[in-house]
Amino acid sequence: MTLAPERPVAERPQGGRLVDQFEFGLDAPICLTWELTYACNLACLHCLSSSGRRDPDELSTEECKALIDEFERMQIFYVNIGGGEPTVRPDFWELLDYAVDHHVGVKFSTNGFRINEERAAKLAATDYVDVQISLDGATAEVNDAVRGAGTYDAAMRAMANMRAAGMKDFKISVVCTRHNIPQLDEFKAIADTYGAQLRLTRLRPSGRGADVWDDLHPLPEQQRELYDWLIANGDDVLTGDSFFHLSAYGEALPGLNLCGAGRVVCLVDPVGDVYACPFAIHDRFKAGNVRGEGGFDGVWTTSELFLDLRNPQTGGACTKCSAFDSCRGGCMAAKFFTGLPLDGPDPECVKGNAEFLERGEAPGSSQDHSHTGTVRNAPVPLALGPTRTSRPASACDESPLVTGRPWESDRDTV
Ligand code: SF4
Ligand code: SF4
Repeated sequence: MTLAPERPVAERPQGGRLVDQFEFGLDAPICLTWELTYACNLACLHCLSSSGRRDPDELSTEECKALIDEFERMQIFYVNIGGGEPTVRPDFWELLDYAVDHHVGVKFSTNGFRINEERAAKLAATDYVDVQISLDGATAEVNDAVRGAGTYDAAMRAMANMRAAGMKDFKISVVCTRHNIPQLDEFKAIADTYGAQLRLTRLRPSGRGADVWDDLHPLPEQQRELYDWLIANGDDVLTGDSFFHLSAYGEALPGLNLCGAGRVVCLVDPVGDVYACPFAIHDRFKAGNVRGEGGFDGVWTTSELFLDLRNPQTGGACTKCSAFDSCRGGCMAAKFFTGLPLDGPDPECVKGNAEFLERGEAPGSSQDHSHTGTVRNAPVPLALGPTRTSRPASACDESPLVTGRPWESDRDTV
């Protein structure tokens, strides 16, 4: 995909397929992720936003409320709140109540450490709120190797509290890696045990994910295993449309099969910067800031970047591929952060057209946007067996095709 300069703004077609209309963008995002803070009590190896430290310039409580007012005016029916760990913001619960009172549903991601019995009861009693507990291994060994010591137990405790409080269909959010793909059935069993829904998302080489990409991203044969499992488990498992590159294997997976960046998807970060996608936190994809004169609405409707992304994109060599209609060349962010051209194939192209990456023949991104003070691209301890003893990590999460109620939508990013 190439962003063409100075092209006229294309007209959105009236009627026809939903995906064709979405390609030209909408008046408001369907999937808005809001990273409330980069502060986190953990330090997951693959955190997409490199979270850890609070940014001293993060939006104040009043600025957050003004932004929620704007979401209400724009009829944004729900937001995905993440971080960092959003619950470490002292005003998190106040902001959650404020959003719900102003007709903006909230789905928030958490590592579960702070979801005690009292909080679980409050969440179960509040309409228009959904919760995603992050879990990256169906066993403590696999989970804690990535998320930190004690994080599996914390997630399980949070789930037990939610079940006891009567919270139904909360989400268990799993970032798929080569270590947990063999555990897909076990994840499903855990979700069924707690009355939760399983949500699988793709690991992207964004944030600290870039540092561990080579060690964690699924092996080619596991991509096929994951695809077959998703086909077999169908609508029971949510994916946020994040595996559409796997549709190139044959039958399309449920979803839009579209990169929604800047069209139906965007991210607001803790200091109010607006990016095209939660996995594209980089100046290249920054559209503006909500503190500017036009606010969020102004950025969404007039930023040059977003207007350009809503123009038809060129697919480069991928347009010759028989799977292009469903795969569309894959994920823009995954390409960018592995040093690939945006109009080239996805780094996990199932047709093998990016295998040169595995041979180390393409440059990775070296952009440092870590919020922990660590140096990107430095060696990262990664092992199954003894778990990390450092500070345990982040709710690293990120749908317009939804299940009935908009705040339960599963398009967190694609
Ligand atoms: S995650 Fe990738 S495919 Fe999805 S919106 Fe972002 S850039 Fe596009
Ligand atoms: S060549 Fe491009 S369109 Fe075809 S499967 Fe690979 S990434 Fe997808």
